[in-house]
Formats: sequence, C-alpha cells, structure tokens
Amino acid sequence: MNLRIPGPTPLPPQVREALQGQMINHRGREFGQMVRAIAEQLKHFFQTENDLVILTGSGTGAMEAAIVNTCSSGEKVLAVSIGNFGDRFATIARAFGLDVTKLDFPGGHAAEPQAVADALDRNPDITTVLITHNETSTGVTNPLADLARVVKERNKLLVVDGISSVASIDLKTDEWGCDVVLSGSQKGWMVPPGLAFASISPFAWERHAAARLPRVYWDFAEHKKYLDRGETPWTPAVSIFYALRVALDMMEQEGREEIFARHERVAQRCRDRAVAAGMSLFADQRYASNTVTAFYTPEGIDSRSIATELEDEFDTVVALGQAQWTNTSLRIGHLGWVNESDIDRTMDALEKVLSRTQA
Ligand SMILES: *Cc1c(COP(=O)(O)O)cnc(C)c1O
Repeated sequence: MNLRIPGPTPLPPQVREALQGQMINHRGREFGQMVRAIAEQLKHFFQTENDLVILTGSGTGAMEAAIVNTCSSGEKVLAVSIGNFGDRFATIARAFGLDVTKLDFPGGHAAEPQAVADALDRNPDITTVLITHNETSTGVTNPLADLARVVKERNKLLVVDGISSVASIDLKTDEWGCDVVLSGSQKGWMVPPGLAFASISPFAWERHAAARLPRVYWDFAEHKKYLDRGETPWTPAVSIFYALRVALDMMEQEGREEIFARHERVAQRCRDRAVAAGMSLFADQRYASNTVTAFYTPEGIDSRSIATELEDEFDTVVALGQAQWTNTSLRIGHLGWVNESDIDRTMDALEKVLSRTQA
C-alpha cells in the first residue's frame, strides 16, 4: 500500500523487523541503555542540549503535558493558530482553566511575527505562547525563527508543537530559544504511533517549579528523574523503542541536514506535480510545508470520491482536507520514509483518476 497521509507513515523493513522483538524488563539494564541512548540521539534531531523526555502517548498527550507542566489555573497564554492543530492547543489550554487569548490566521496562511508582537504588547500579563511549527491541517510551516524572536524579546515561555516537523524540517530549538518542543513518533521518525517527545529548557524547568496544575502521568520531573537512571516512570511502549532505535540509526547514517534536504526535494516534487496536474495549492507558497501538501481538487469534483478511487484502484491512501475543506481539498503526506518515486507513484495515480473523472 502507498500510504501518503501525514502520519502514521510507512515503516522501513528494518523498523518493522525490530518491532517483533521479545519483551524485556523495562526496569532492567538493556532497557536502561536503550532509553538513554535514544534520548541522546533524539536531542541531536531536536538540535538541543536541553533535557528531553520520552513519553508513552500520542502527540496530543505531549501537548497536554506541556500545559500541565508549565502553567497554573488562570494563567494568561497566547495561542497562535493557523489551523486545526493550533486550535487544539488552545482547546487543551482552556480545558485546564487557562486564560487563553487566541490569535488566528486564515487557513493556508502563516502567523505574522508583527501580529504576535502586537498581541503580546496589548496583553503584557501573558506569560506563555503556544505555537504550531508545521500546521499539518493546512500544509503551512510557520516562520518560527522570526516568531520565536518576538516571543523571546518579551521573555515569554515559548511552547512549540513541532510534532510534524522535528527531524523533517529545520527547527533550531536552542538557537531560536524554544523552551518546550514537542514531537510524536508516527510523524517524521519512521516508527509507529505510541511515543511522544518533549524538550525542556532551563526556563521551562523554572516554570515547572512554579506551575500548579495537577500532573501525574505527564509530570516532566518524574520522567527526567527516571530517565537519569535509565527508566521511565510508567510502563513504556517498549516495542516502539525497539523500532526507534533502528530508525534513529538510519537517520544518523543519512544525516540530519540531508534528511531536511530530502524532505525539501520531495515536497517540491509534490507541489510541482500537483500544479502540473491542474490543482491549486492551499498554502501561501512562501510557507509551504515540506512534510505535507494540501491542494484544492478541481471544481465540482468531490475530494472524497477521488480519495476513494485512489484507494480502491491504486492502493494509494491520501488524507482528506480538514475542517470546511474536507470535500474540496486533499492532503498528501511526505515525511519520514519517503522519496521522489513515492510521490511520482502517488501523482501518477491521481492524474489517472482525475483524467477519468473529467473525461
Ligand atoms: C499529528 C499532529 C498532532 C497530534 O498528534 P497525535 O499523535 O495525533 O495526538 C498535533 N500537532 C500536529 C502539528 C500534528 O501534525
């Protein structure tokens, strides 16, 4: 099957093989060596010297973890949203009783640093900014370096949802001053869903010490304490660790910058072929994502029927558009284990389906 959704992604054969490993004692020596080595390798791809914890849960769990570890009830936060996942962060923050100021940008657009600066200057009591790096629902990558500068100039805590970007798109955690950065195993990491990662800056630890929201399962301090002795506080998704160990070795062999370059090439190929097939791209092209491409399907053709034909006849699975664009757009995931020929296969199939529908 040609699985072209923005996570879960296909698994390389070596990773699938690793998943079959027998269970081990998660409080034993082998797991200890594995979890410590993996945490160090992850830091390389997070481009950070900060602490990094490995959580068993999905990306959304890590988003909730970021909130409960850094905030208190009634705390004023700015949620910058350019789509569904930005909205989700705001929803989680509200659910925990935070005082959320939301800054929304229209679908397909990136967040504007000046607008973020203005929002922070209008609301000086805001302590924390939640930002999505790569908005998977619209295929837009925010100009995070510029956004981070605005946030850090004002000494706010910067929490970044990098779930669909870390390890695929350049995200300089330390250089840009990102305090908490999140990712999830089923996105750029070539492994199944089940693990989530969070890097934690010294400033974030200060906030952790003062934060008063209830936290047990996600408590970063517990995760750090256990990681230091080669464990996790709760039973981890052991099999995903096996897979990740293999995937990270593959990634190191390819090289971080080479991986970014491959994602850039593959994304460009996807955009070029979508345009050549007569589709119009959803994202402001200055900020087009290198991990997911969204485009409108031709007028009058329901995107659902295209997706169904792709799956039934070409064994190719793409994602529908999100929110109000479900019936008028499609999204193609190109992150993790992907190269140009995967995109060509996908777009060849799409062209065949379209030519039939339009005939
Ligand atoms: C996938 C994704 C999430 C949610 O992660 P889950 O693992 O589905 O909980 C959040 N944010 C972004 C940007 C994502 O791409």
